[in-house]
Amino acid sequence: MRTAVTVAELRSIRERLPEPVALVPTMGALHAGHASLVRRARAECRSVIVSSFVNPLQFAAGEDLGRYPRSPQDDARLLEGEAVDVLFAPSETEMYPRPQEIFVQPLTLGEFCEGPRRPDHFRGVATVVLKLLNVCRPQQAYFGEKDAQQLAVVQRLVADLHLEVDIVSCPIVREADGLALSSRNRYLSGDERSAAPNLYRALEAIASALRSGQRDVNRLFAEARTAMKPLRCDYVAVVRPDEFRPLDDVPPDSDVLAVGAAFAGVTRLIDAVKARTPKRPTDERIG
Ligand code: AMP
Repeated sequence: MRTAVTVAELRSIRERLPEPVALVPTMGALHAGHASLVRRARAECRSVIVSSFVNPLQFAAGEDLGRYPRSPQDDARLLEGEAVDVLFAPSETEMYPRPQEIFVQPLTLGEFCEGPRRPDHFRGVATVVLKLLNVCRPQQAYFGEKDAQQLAVVQRLVADLHLEVDIVSCPIVREADGLALSSRNRYLSGDERSAAPNLYRALEAIASALRSGQRDVNRLFAEARTAMKPLRCDYVAVVRPDEFRPLDDVPPDSDVLAVGAAFAGVTRLIDAVKARTPKRPTDERIG
């Protein structure tokens, strides 16, 4: 595996990479969820670049930018083991040599759910993803369904700006008890870790009720908030995966997501569970 820390180094390595080239953008502190994206990229492309960059633009004031977990040696070992070709690990000044003047700003996709709770988060995500795509010029880029709203923003970024890259979405990797793997899980104390899967269980209960045809989401949300305890619910919503506008009335015969965030102590967990709602029962016909 070769490591590039500057844009110039990455570009000169990229020139000679056999295509198609895959990019897997990460913030490091890698775990089996990241590894699943890398494995898929390895299976589908001739060259794999993994970027590791804790992007300050996507952290709001008061979030965990300063203490975000970093494990560069373990990360490099994991990526070597997955036969990654190139690790791109730029510094902050390499990615932002001057204060960023031009941003990519999602509009309605960032209005709900994570958007209002993390000011400028999706603007930071869309901007850094565009920069990484421009530097690495992959044919395919791999993103996890765990960050479902981020995935929607990236898909729309590529469509709206006519970018020549396929976005590949990858299923959420979970612990045996349902907790979605996350770099932030290493913040959890023993008690917090035991309670953490309640977020998944509560969202799965909403998704399962939707699959069986229930549509009264407000009752489902009240039950979900109770089921999450002792986690403190930040929000729960049911959305279309490409819109992220909370639905009051969930339409039949549709793909939707039950999404939510909850606090285990000061650690904020997010998760998403898919559901396909049933067709409306056909009218009974007599004779
Ligand atoms: P992060 O390093 O948290 O920014 O994540 C980098 C990529 O890995 C994003 O596309 C995430 O959605 C994806 N990812 C993180 N955790 C998981 C997981 N448990 N399962 C699948 N993908 C994940």
